Amino acid sequence: MKSALDFKSLKFKIWLYFAIFAVVLMAILWFLQIIFLETYYEDMKTKEIIRAANSIAGEYGQLDIEKMKEYSYKDDMYIHLESDSGIVIYTASSAYVRPSIISGQRDIEVVKRLLKSSRSGTVSFTINDRPGNVKTLVYGKLIRDNEGNNIYLSIFAPLSPVESTVEILANQLIIITVISLILAFSLSFFISRNLTKPLVKITDSASLLARGNYGVKFEGGQYSEIIRLADTLNYTSKELAKSDELKKDLIANVSHDLRTPLTMVKSYAEMIRDLSGDNPEKRNSHLQVIIDEADRLNQLVSDLLTLSKMQSGVSLLEIQEFNLAEAARSVLSSYQILKETGEYSFICSFDDIVTVKGDPGRIKQVLSNLLNNAVRYDNRGKEITLSITDCKDRVRCEVKDRGEGIPDEELEHIWERYYKVSGNRGRSSGGGSGLGLAIVKEILTLHGARFGVESKVGSGSNFWFELFK
Ligand code: ADP
Repeated sequence: MKSALDFKSLKFKIWLYFAIFAVVLMAILWFLQIIFLETYYEDMKTKEIIRAANSIAGEYGQLDIEKMKEYSYKDDMYIHLESDSGIVIYTASSAYVRPSIISGQRDIEVVKRLLKSSRSGTVSFTINDRPGNVKTLVYGKLIRDNEGNNIYLSIFAPLSPVESTVEILANQLIIITVISLILAFSLSFFISRNLTKPLVKITDSASLLARGNYGVKFEGGQYSEIIRLADTLNYTSKELAKSDELKKDLIANVSHDLRTPLTMVKSYAEMIRDLSGDNPEKRNSHLQVIIDEADRLNQLVSDLLTLSKMQSGVSLLEIQEFNLAEAARSVLSSYQILKETGEYSFICSFDDIVTVKGDPGRIKQVLSNLLNNAVRYDNRGKEITLSITDCKDRVRCEVKDRGEGIPDEELEHIWERYYKVSGNRGRSSGGGSGLGLAIVKEILTLHGARFGVESKVGSGSNFWFELFK
């Protein structure tokens, strides 16, 4: 799968861009240093000469010898002032200029001749034929003194240093280029390797995750973007692990919960067939067990269906304004028999009309689940209180029992699917499917309602929820 060189890889691309950057940078440097340096230098020098010539011409009347010397020495010029008749008024050059420039009076004569025929009064040219291949800039200017006599100014400036400078620069540039290319290539190689390493690791972990290894950890390395990616993937992995766990639990619980009543149904049916078939009393009691177990199976299946429908978003709420008191009374009516036999007492504390917004069918289911639990888990006080109170923009409904209560550490778990508090009466003695409160939670969450439970071991529980008016 892994090819030797992947041209699309981040590694290769980073390396390539780095290399291109270095090459372009070097090319620009070479271009500017080698090609432009000479022109730039010549330009600069020409401007310098013209400036000097203008300044000499301007101050000719009160010519300052010191200033002339400064031009010669500082700016490497050979300055020569001569009258029409050949009298040398001034001549000075730096020690450096002299040997390369002066090829006798000949050059000066050339300038003089050119100036005489020039209309602008200035001439400029370069001389290339000096020994040692020294290029010399020549500038001439015609000046008139106070008496109107012609004075010929010739300035010679050698350009020789730039050639050797260019050579030195070129040599240095070769070294710089080699070093920077090596640096760029190796640096980009290491950077790209460093950068892609965590990505490669994350990819490996992700393929493990894809194969169902949910516990896998993603490491982000040292870059915050990759760390964030790894964090997200870690979160995903954790969530997947949770949902996988839940799925396994669900299957285990459902199969267990389905098997127990089915076994009961089967064994009681066998008992009727083999033993109690002729004994109407026994037969009826055995049949009752079968009916009860079938009811439980029915309840379990419908609970499962309700929960999965709500969680998958298939079943939507039909929100409307309805009378919560009326809904509560209708739910309570199914407990009439418990009331009549005096087994349980129900205390209701609410007004006749309490309007709330919600899905009446679903809220009835919430009330029914809470009342079922209260009845199921209160075999001490056997007194259940249902109260509905007005709380500003909400209506609070409470289902209180005086049963065993729920230990603090279990409180946050009771809303989970299949969670049953250890020590509480199990389903073998009439416990539920373990889905009741999960359904309550789902319905109330869909309503955007607040809900909760306060419970004290030994004195009972108070399940409450608040609906919008
Ligand atoms: P179940 O079908 O087992 O009642 P629920 O989801 O309705 O499942 O409740 C989860 C667990 O919370 C129950 O198994 C029980 O241990 C505990 N529980 C619920 N309501 C009460 C209550 N009123 N008093 C004490 N324990 C309760």
